[in-house]
Amino acid sequence: MARPDLLVVGGGITGQCAALSAARAGARVALVDLGLNAGSTANAGSLHVQMQSRFLRLNPHLAENLESSLPLYLSAVKAWEALDAELGGVELTREGGLMLAESEAQLAFLEEKAERERAKGLDVEILGHNALHRMAPWLSEEVIGAELCRDEGKLNPLVANRKMRAALERAGVEIRRDRITALEDGAAPSALGTRRHSAGQILLATAWGTSALLAGTAVHVPTPPEPLHMNITEAGAYEIHHLVQHAERPITLKQFRSGQVVIGGGWEARLSEGAGAPGIRKESLLGNVALAARIAPGIGGLRVLRTWAGYNTPVDGKATIGPLEAASRIHLALPGDAGYTLGPVVGQSAAALALGAEGPIDAAPYSPARWRG
Ligand SMILES: Cc1cc2nc3c(=O)[nH]c(=O)nc-3n(C[C@H](O)[C@H](O)[C@H](O)COP(=O)(O)OP(=O)(O)OC[C@H]3O[C@@H](n4cnc5c(N)ncnc54)[C@H](O)[C@@H]3O)c2cc1C
Repeated sequence: MARPDLLVVGGGITGQCAALSAARAGARVALVDLGLNAGSTANAGSLHVQMQSRFLRLNPHLAENLESSLPLYLSAVKAWEALDAELGGVELTREGGLMLAESEAQLAFLEEKAERERAKGLDVEILGHNALHRMAPWLSEEVIGAELCRDEGKLNPLVANRKMRAALERAGVEIRRDRITALEDGAAPSALGTRRHSAGQILLATAWGTSALLAGTAVHVPTPPEPLHMNITEAGAYEIHHLVQHAERPITLKQFRSGQVVIGGGWEARLSEGAGAPGIRKESLLGNVALAARIAPGIGGLRVLRTWAGYNTPVDGKATIGPLEAASRIHLALPGDAGYTLGPVVGQSAAALALGAEGPIDAAPYSPARWRG
């Protein structure tokens, strides 16, 4: 390919969606990726919209970032629905998400949270014991209520990742394998790896790899990787239609159409030395599946087929979208928390800004300006 109009660095869901939308808009696009540790190949396929209690618990100082981003999450699920149709189906359903309470204090927390979310346009409702158990009879009797967010859903990331890759090839995106170690900005920007990758514009969708690439620029984004644990069971009868979380305990739980139950929710994995994949912690495996079986006793008899870990990059709980500086030809596309949900809308928006086109959202609130200096 002659010098591409856009070079995307990072081939997770954000970079792929940036590349696909730019190619579909008629740009010549190349995508370069190191081929290691994408959060997108480790994620659980939850389409998150309501504020995750885990993030609020761990980062009370960043609650405002998450709350002000709620409209972006609503745009994100619409972007996923469009992608689902475009890719010919990624098992996406939007039957809502339940955040469970096992005590009056947890229910009070959800009531207050729902109030704030309703003010941002989310379709949320607090369910008492009877209404909840009619809707989700597989839940433990210990669960006394829940917040239902009708905007939430789930998809199968294995299917989505495979179909995205094929769509990129069909759209003529050139896929390159390289580790980028430095960037040159200016009229003819380049990304430097084992070779020089020059392009009209460069877009970084490099998640945990971003802060190292920005060393030497005036933009400092902390992107430490957060190693997280996941499990998947053998298939059972398909009964759990909602995305399930908890008001106070680290869990997300959902069932694929195959009947397999995907269990995660923020249990720790081990940071690896060098470029290796994160390691599994036995304590996380046992604690995570025990909690799942307590909440949904019917899945207790299913065997865990596979356990894995991946790097999440929540940054400050708010997306970063746009050029490093007004005149820069290097752009950022970092989704923040629940990055698989946000990846398509963030990638599409960043690509549109890079190409001077109209994007799907007003990206001004997510400008990299907050990271300058
Ligand atoms: C276990 C787990 C479960 C999760 N579950 C969910 C979920 O259910 N729902 C949800 O919304 N989110 C979930 N997340 C978060 C989500 O997966 C990530 O936030 C999202 O995938 C980030 O996408 P991305 O494309 O921005 O980055 P990534 O998918 O992390 O991709 C970044 C890419 O950049 C490449 N790269 C980095 N540095 C360089 C470099 N110097 N040169 C070349 N390439 C480079 C990497 O190789 C990688 O391929 C989960 C995360 C984990 C770890």
